[in-house]
Amino acid sequence: MKVTKFGGSSLASATQLEKVLNIVQSDPERHFVVVSAPGKRDGQDTKVTDALIKYYKEYISGKDVTASQEWIINRYQAMADELGFEAKSLTKIAKSIRDLANLPIEDNDFLYDTFLAAGEDNNAKLIAEYFSYKGLPARYVHPKKAGLLVSSEPGNARILPSSYDRIEELRNFDEVLVIPGFFGVTEDNQICTFSRGGSDITGSIIAAGVKADLYENFTDVDGIFAAHPGIIHKPHSISELTYREMRELAYAGFSVLHDEALLPAYRGRIPLVIKNTNNPSHPGTRIVLKHSGETMPVVGIAADDDFVSINISKYLMNREVGFGRKLLQILEELNIRWEHMPTGIDDVSVVLRGRELTPIKEEEILRQLNHNLEVDKAEIEHDLSIIMIVGENMKSHVGVAATATTALSQRNINLAMISQGASEVSVMFVVKTEQRNKALRALYDAFFRDEQSSQVVQ
Ligand code: ASP
Repeated sequence: MKVTKFGGSSLASATQLEKVLNIVQSDPERHFVVVSAPGKRDGQDTKVTDALIKYYKEYISGKDVTASQEWIINRYQAMADELGFEAKSLTKIAKSIRDLANLPIEDNDFLYDTFLAAGEDNNAKLIAEYFSYKGLPARYVHPKKAGLLVSSEPGNARILPSSYDRIEELRNFDEVLVIPGFFGVTEDNQICTFSRGGSDITGSIIAAGVKADLYENFTDVDGIFAAHPGIIHKPHSISELTYREMRELAYAGFSVLHDEALLPAYRGRIPLVIKNTNNPSHPGTRIVLKHSGETMPVVGIAADDDFVSINISKYLMNREVGFGRKLLQILEELNIRWEHMPTGIDDVSVVLRGRELTPIKEEEILRQLNHNLEVDKAEIEHDLSIIMIVGENMKSHVGVAATATTALSQRNINLAMISQGASEVSVMFVVKTEQRNKALRALYDAFFRDEQSSQVVQ
């Protein structure tokens, strides 16, 4: 059995819904369908989730909500009209959209989530009815009925482990089950969403729960590219990645799949495939537990911006017991998350995301470093980017880092830092953001344009 998730762009119009129906109909193993809210039909359009945010804001500030309500209802109506069927669910959909504006505003921590979830919930109702109308017996299943119990963390729900046994019972239905993505229900019966883009997470949870053979994630690209196509001209697409490789690439900016979506499928040992609704015969990118054959040492190169480095020097730092703890404590007390900590003998840097800092926090960090830790030098460097070369197979190859650094030095790129974790799945380079594209191209050319085997001594 397969769990098949469709993203918003796959469900934005009647034409897209026809493609979705064909995909589901073409394989009887596709038994569980998880759907997003309708996405954009073109560049100027608004996603239904974003329209629901607007509606929510108008409602809580006492403005007239009629236009927003009608726009959202009309999105579903227009799809049914274009598909040429009279959807009975439309009455329920319209009522559920309008009823949002009767919910209590005061003391309602889940109001925003309830508004947002309506996008996926109503889409699932319409799609289940459309499938049945087209002769594919289908049933809409609300996450509560599916057993998707989540923690009470508005906008950031987590699945409760007890959910999985209930979800497994979904295997007993004969029809295709259409389940709205993006939200679950708390033990107190409140609607609570995952973070934005979270329908991917629902798909992964359902796949783990029903012990699917495959989790298919349909989007609007042929799979994952080895590097960002906006920077590298026609990068090649990756046919297979391991979960660990995907995690590393997702961390550094590969955003095809929500990064929290990997965990349930990974724990359930379920392979995942990313496919294109507009080109379903393309094999896409498979995400697997272990590579099926020999792979190149580097499978992908990711880059991400807005990093900051706190650079600290203190003579004989290595002799001072507790220096690292005191340093990290300063960050902890200011509620700052950090990402990497490359060290030298008398110096250490803490690399973090720029959004973690404010000018006031920066001042406070420098003050404490100078006064409490009595460092010789402390400075905060902005506008840094990280570039990660990723590949499980790197550990069995000698010379990967040498190939990378040579390629970077030949293009005159100054490396602010290099770091490799113990698992050797990736090597991270920190460069000035203004050099990011040049660095990415240098690395891509080194590992992908020529035969990798000739670059690396095996
Ligand atoms: N509709 C939600 C969002 O836009 C969730 C999703 O599409 O996965 O964030």
